[in-house]
Amino acid sequence: MIIKIKPNTQDYDIEMLKNYLNEFDIEWQEVKGKKACVWCLIGDTSKIDLQHLKSFNAIESVTKIQENSKCDPYENKPKTEIKVGNVTIGGDNFTVIAGPCSVESREQIISIAMECKNYGAHILRGGAFKPRTSPYSFQGLELEGLDLLLEAKKVTNMPIITEIQSVDMIPRFVKDVDIIQVGARNMQNFHLLKALGKIDKPILLKRGLSATIEEWLMSAEYILSGGNKKVILCERGIRTFETYTRNTLDLSAVLAVKELSTLPVIVDPSHSAGKWSMVEALSKASLAVGADGIIVEVHNNPDCALCDGPQSIKPKRFKNLMDDLKKIAPIIGKKL
Ligand code: PEP
Ligand code: MN
Repeated sequence: MIIKIKPNTQDYDIEMLKNYLNEFDIEWQEVKGKKACVWCLIGDTSKIDLQHLKSFNAIESVTKIQENSKCDPYENKPKTEIKVGNVTIGGDNFTVIAGPCSVESREQIISIAMECKNYGAHILRGGAFKPRTSPYSFQGLELEGLDLLLEAKKVTNMPIITEIQSVDMIPRFVKDVDIIQVGARNMQNFHLLKALGKIDKPILLKRGLSATIEEWLMSAEYILSGGNKKVILCERGIRTFETYTRNTLDLSAVLAVKELSTLPVIVDPSHSAGKWSMVEALSKASLAVGADGIIVEVHNNPDCALCDGPQSIKPKRFKNLMDDLKKIAPIIGKKL
């Protein structure tokens, strides 16, 4: 492995890098030219976490010499599995998270939650704090929404996931929420990510609207490097020149992050497509490509939904989807 050191790197940053490298059974040789400085790492570099290494201040770039060899760290490393109540995300499991975009009322969230549970969903989603493009759109029921989500959890015994928007809400989320969602718009809210790195709670990190895979993984690194290793990635479509769909689902990103990290990755077909008619097929494609699960919006009355009705599937359709996924999962080697 060859690492290129940034010009004018401070001694302190070099020390930090050396301290990290000293944890491994490797040696390195410095090659200093007039304009550039590289270190050649010799020995078993397979245990070095590439994403973590790239996050050091001193590093400009990293080049693996044995790109596809058996030393590839992510081929050999055990995949991260994250336990949430009775559910395990990652490994051989295909986890289905379902529920409305937003919590709207007690009747709405409890009735949707019960149907989703009956049809085989593992985890209940529902937004209480909604990040809306327009300040005049429904912003979520906020704390009342969180209370209603907890009621739905009691009724169905499903773990719950909901989106956090600010650091000051962390204590309440740690107390009541099973998975904390960081939305696409907050993927690079580094202050929030650092704070989430200090807690012991699974974090679902959505890919930013226009984020590269590298930027997304670096954001994950903010949480991981703080000590919280329970990060789940979520591909939710990216902004491209195409306008027919709300976003462009980047299924190859699922494969890319599997090559580059050990973290579980799930797909959000609802925000990717923006159209309910595409949600079932994209969900099946996500399973086929090797994703660790999906997060899908389900609503009992999409025409009247306060947020994201056009991309929400009705419970009956969700049942059909679950039936299909159950048939496909064994072929892919996943448990559902
Ligand atoms: C959501 O899950 O409801 C949501 C707002 O998603 P995203 O952050 O991916 O837009
Ligand atoms: Mn939504």
